[in-house]
Amino acid sequence: MSEEKTKVLVIGSGPAGYTAAIYASRANLHPIVFEGNQPGGQLTQTTEIENFPGYPEGVQGPEMMDQIRRQALRFGAEIRPRTIESVDFSKRPFRCVDEKGDVIIADTVIISTGASARYLGLSDEEKYRGLGVSACATCDGFFYRKKNVAVVGGGDTACEEALYLSTLANKVYLIVRKNYLRASDVMQKRVRDKENIEILFECNTVGLFGEDGVEGAHIVSKKGTPEEDHFDIEIDGFFLAIGHKPNTEIFNGQIELDAEGYIKVQGNTTHTSVPGVFAAGDCADPRYRQAIAAAGTGCRAALDAEKFLMEHSEE
Ligand code: NDP
Repeated sequence: MSEEKTKVLVIGSGPAGYTAAIYASRANLHPIVFEGNQPGGQLTQTTEIENFPGYPEGVQGPEMMDQIRRQALRFGAEIRPRTIESVDFSKRPFRCVDEKGDVIIADTVIISTGASARYLGLSDEEKYRGLGVSACATCDGFFYRKKNVAVVGGGDTACEEALYLSTLANKVYLIVRKNYLRASDVMQKRVRDKENIEILFECNTVGLFGEDGVEGAHIVSKKGTPEEDHFDIEIDGFFLAIGHKPNTEIFNGQIELDAEGYIKVQGNTTHTSVPGVFAAGDCADPRYRQAIAAAGTGCRAALDAEKFLMEHSEE
């Protein structure tokens, strides 16, 4: 077990963490970044990004993350492919322990741990994980060319995933628990206009079946009403698109979180409830969840940390 000190510890990568590292390293703060178990974050699971300024022709998610990462390395950020497992924010400097038991003593911490896809909580999702169950159509859609698939959810993500899959798969079921889509009008129209997307309103998935992988799903419609019905659909791929949950478990009890687990920040800053701890990106953003917004808060977190260190340099 080793122990080392740093002025700025960044927990988590992705556009927020790497941008914070660029700013902190250019301010000579020598940040250490713990990338976590998905270096580069959610964007490494996407294909093309068309809405990040500066890429008029679009850019592949993993490529963009690699470029931001290299930009941070260029200015001296130390980036480690490791995970912080526990933190103690009860007194400054903060004591953080990684998965190997090594200790980092940090004057400031920037949390940028992002968010992860939600699952329904069915045991079959675990059973068939990687065998037909996925939360990323753009990552795994390719495997379902000319096959039948289902997407669960009624928001923009579900519609986007269904539209993407409809270009590859033979047929796409969109399983929606309510009798309407929550997605924006333009996305709804695109989905409704696609001949090979069938929307199953007021339907819930209660199980999956198949020998060596997913071969179908058990569906119940209009559950709890006189018209309740049970039926199966034949599918090879089952995609979840029912929202995200912030990766903030290790901070529970250490800083203030909202009811959904998102980190609470103060006003238009990245300050958390603990002075010296800052939050950036999706872990503190239930609303926008965009790469450019995450990069912006990463910048602000580094500037907030720099100012904090200047104000507390005598302590
Ligand atoms: P949302 O929270 O908007 O939608 C989640 C969907 O999943 C809802 O239809 C919800 O149903 C459904 N759902 C949740 N839990 C379950 C469950 N247990 N069983 C079945 N269905 C469930 O999440 P999104 O990820 O779609 O979007 C998040 C934000 O990102 C939104 O603001 C969205 O507009 C934005 N976004 C924008 C995009 C774009 O503009 N291109 C693309 C993707 C996202 P119910 O309605 O019943 O609650």
